[in-house]
Amino acid sequence: MLLSVRGIVHSIAQTIFYWLMTCMEGASGNVMMSGHFAVSQPHNLYIGTAIQNQNKMNLGCYLQAGKIAAAVRETARKKYHVGLTLFEICESVEAQIRGLNAEPAFPVNTSLNETAAHYTAEPNDATLVKEGDVLKIDIGVHIDGYIADTAVTVCYDPKYEALINTAEMALSEAVRIARVNTKASDIGRVIESTITKFGFKPIQNLSGHSLQQYTIHAGKSIPNIWTRGSSFSLLTNEAYAIEPFITTRDGQGVVYEGKTKNIFGVTSRKPVKNKEADDLLELIWSRYKTLPFALRWLTNKYDEKDLRRLTDVLVRKKNVHAYPILVEGHSKIVVQAEHTLIPTESSVNIITL
Ligand code: MN
Ligand code: MN
Repeated sequence: MLLSVRGIVHSIAQTIFYWLMTCMEGASGNVMMSGHFAVSQPHNLYIGTAIQNQNKMNLGCYLQAGKIAAAVRETARKKYHVGLTLFEICESVEAQIRGLNAEPAFPVNTSLNETAAHYTAEPNDATLVKEGDVLKIDIGVHIDGYIADTAVTVCYDPKYEALINTAEMALSEAVRIARVNTKASDIGRVIESTITKFGFKPIQNLSGHSLQQYTIHAGKSIPNIWTRGSSFSLLTNEAYAIEPFITTRDGQGVVYEGKTKNIFGVTSRKPVKNKEADDLLELIWSRYKTLPFALRWLTNKYDEKDLRRLTDVLVRKKNVHAYPILVEGHSKIVVQAEHTLIPTESSVNIITL
């Protein structure tokens, strides 16, 4: 998914913290993880031989996840969504993923208009897509934890066609220069210049990201603007999501956290000493590990009221993080496009093409 700029340092610190906590896991019995879709598995930090040896296997899973994500995204792009509820859209996209023998890496995001990201349908969410709505459908697919992350913006009002085309163009320009050793700052520069050339504004505090097994944000951010100072270069056999977010010229070009929170992720398995809440926590862990989940995914086992009550306990005890929706500062329309790619020595696998 994505990360606000100020989350980067937090994310790296949390990754190190998690690794340290994991080293102590035998003693404490607890597993600590960070928020912001930025949770890291300990083995990801054991770089070198072990990971190198797994590359073939990893690439196979990534390619398969990418193929499924792309197919599902294209179906969503062509579909006429007006009159459907967000619940129907989320459930339908996720059912397609599962029908292709993969799992959603996070609840499908269906963010409307000025909401840039992190909205998924509530259980039985009756919000209808209306004529003129701008809907971002952000899809994550994983196979054995290897994640493909891709997004499309759909809208049936020609007024926003140029905005959406610009997001796609900024993405393709970025993908065109992305290969091993490309600097993340150069990707940001290309994205920003493409967007401004057409008279629009990038969302400056949303960015692309590196991915690792069971980790949507693996600590490196690919900016959507040109940034001064230190940057990193793309590595071979590391997965990256590139995702320009764009608003109109009168937008602020910044997103803020909204009140709504309907995407969650486990951050600690420390028992809260409430049997019901602990049972829920273990169920979530066994199904989703560190990956984000939605309450919709648990209503087959729980009554919705109980589920909300127990989730509140877990959020209050900081065992579960609730991700707020991200909303454009001037409440202007936001559009998005996204691909996941993996550079090799001689070329690039754009796995969600
Ligand atoms: Mn995404
Ligand atoms: Mn992403």
